[in-house]
Amino acid sequence: MNIPPEVRALLVCPVCEGELEDRGDGLLCPACQKVYPVLEGVPVLLPARARKARPAGGGDGSPPRR
Ligand SMILES: [Zn+2]
Repeated sequence: MNIPPEVRALLVCPVCEGELEDRGDGLLCPACQKVYPVLEGVPVLLPARARKARPAGGGDGSPPRR
């Protein structure tokens, strides 16, 4: 992703104003568990455009088994 670090630092979640983490294909808000898309290098910080973050360790979305 080509977002300069100084710009990244200004980016916060529009819902909770928490810090966002770079997920490679989007920006993750850990508090909301939402991923905001980045289109052509421009972060789209709209709650309506966000998608649910995949649960950590879930892999393909199937329930974890032991
Ligand atoms: Zn949030």
